[in-house]
Amino acid sequence: MLSTQSTSQNWQQQLARAFTDITELCQFLNLNPKDLPVSQQASEKFSLRVPRSYANRIKKNDPKDPLLLQILPISHELLSDIHYNNDPVGDLNAIAGRGIIHKYHGRALLINTGSCAINCRYCFRKEFPYAEQHLRRDAQSSALDYLQKHPSISEIILSGGDPLILNDARLKQLFSALKKIKHLKRIRIHSRVPIVLPERITPELISLLNQTDKKIIIVLHCNHPNEIDHSVQTITKQFIQNEYTVLNQSVLLRNINNSVETLAQLSETLFEANIQPYYLHLLDKVTGTQHFNVPKEEAIRLVNALRNILPGYLVPQLVQEQPGKPAKTVINLQSTPESE
Ligand SMILES: *Cc1c(COP(=O)(O)O)cnc(C)c1O
Ligand code: SF4
Repeated sequence: MLSTQSTSQNWQQQLARAFTDITELCQFLNLNPKDLPVSQQASEKFSLRVPRSYANRIKKNDPKDPLLLQILPISHELLSDIHYNNDPVGDLNAIAGRGIIHKYHGRALLINTGSCAINCRYCFRKEFPYAEQHLRRDAQSSALDYLQKHPSISEIILSGGDPLILNDARLKQLFSALKKIKHLKRIRIHSRVPIVLPERITPELISLLNQTDKKIIIVLHCNHPNEIDHSVQTITKQFIQNEYTVLNQSVLLRNINNSVETLAQLSETLFEANIQPYYLHLLDKVTGTQHFNVPKEEAIRLVNALRNILPGYLVPQLVQEQPGKPAKTVINLQSTPESE
């Protein structure tokens, strides 16, 4: 059981004890790094980072484990391709001020930190200039001014990096600042933390979130049913009990979740954990992620097959981010490769 006193200590210790060394992780998983395409150089560009609680969900002795493939730095990441670049979603053109991205109607996104609890190899923000753009404490007031001056913004999206690795003091300060912006109706938290570091969801955090008068929406990021274990279910149950809306977005990833069975199981497992499937994203084409790509035609076939076996509410929307568009692009499931 979680004890109120020690929990906040615990998650920070857990974060500090995350695996950052390839050899150590391989040892833990009974794998020989020599049998794998691991790359120290890839890890120097974007470091390995895996909390223990997530590592515990990776099968031992299995170099093809779908959770392992999401976090292991490999040599393929060093390849480049003319169709891949460092800002495929056009975020740099939508920066409205330091730490704030205002791209879509009614919603603005705050980048609160550049860090995450885990480093996902396919990350679309891998190359984002966080050092310049994330919302340092001192720049927060200008971002809040921006929100105050734009009454059309009714929803603020806390993103990152991962906003839930901010400590309670930072979050508390942010939430009380947001409270002053009367036209804000919703606070949406985009986070992978409840999945990869469930220890972080402490009773203190929940009561801090509950101090807001806005609706809370939590958009999780889970790509494979094996990522959801009992500890995650316990957390999402608390979210529901506190009347948060809990959604999930996934990225369609080669050799990880690009099969009808896995995607169907993912939706079923999410729903059992009180999480509503929301988006299935086509990969954002960031340099060094080519090996994860699932072509659009294959994605369309997969989602159509899902629609044949699942209730409609368990089929996520297949989407893609395209620079300069007024919303994420929903992929037309009727389209054939010829008509594109
Ligand atoms: C994805 C995204 C949103 C939210 O889009 P929804 O379709 O409402 O989930 C908002 N701002 C930015 C910059 C985004 O990338
Ligand atoms: S948690 Fe999200 S933002 Fe962080 S590395 Fe993974 S995909 Fe990227």
